[in-house]
Amino acid sequence: MNPFVAKIVFVLGFVVAIFIIRAPHIQAHRRAAIRAQRKTRADTVLLVLASVGGFLVPILYVFTPLFSFADYAIPVWIGLLGVAILIAADWVFWKSHRDLGRNWSPTLEIRENHQLITEGIYQRIRHPMYLSLWLLVFAQAMILPNYVAGFAGLLPFGILYFLRVDREERMMLEQFGSAYEDYRCKTGRLFPKLRIR
Ligand code: SAH
Repeated sequence: MNPFVAKIVFVLGFVVAIFIIRAPHIQAHRRAAIRAQRKTRADTVLLVLASVGGFLVPILYVFTPLFSFADYAIPVWIGLLGVAILIAADWVFWKSHRDLGRNWSPTLEIRENHQLITEGIYQRIRHPMYLSLWLLVFAQAMILPNYVAGFAGLLPFGILYFLRVDREERMMLEQFGSAYEDYRCKTGRLFPKLRIR
């Protein structure tokens, strides 16, 4: 794919969508009362690193020549597959924000009147929002023809995901007990559970 087209697609699909979808939730989160918080220093550092890798570095790549030393060519079919993944990612990102509603938070937290969501996209998978972020960082690598900007999101988000997901589930178990236990049996983490009868 032509690098100019790749940059436009990336900015449209990745940055604009994330801001349009997420911005109202950030506003709502600021107003919400929090009952319990499990944020550690490692969480904060990783969140910053993931934002640098998934946002700042690609933006610098798109708007400045800073990383031009690491340009390379990506076969068109990989770029197009990346665009399809980006569209799927945006849809899952939007749907999970919509279904999680006011229970969303950027770190591990329990709200006042926190509700366990088990419907909509949460009916079959427990972490659709993290799935969408995985799809986004893979799309970033497949679309941006630059070794630095393309791959900058994968590692920090991967570490953040693996350090967070078990702790998040333990927090939900403490909070919701057997209801979460049942929910966990019926669902998969990132992909629906296969039903073997
Ligand atoms: N891991 C989920 C949610 C990410 S937002 C996903 O990937 O879609 C993180 C916050 O969501 C956590 O602090 C937790 O309080 C809340 N959360 C996670 N799963 C939830 C659920 N099924 N119902 C309600 N809140 C949930």
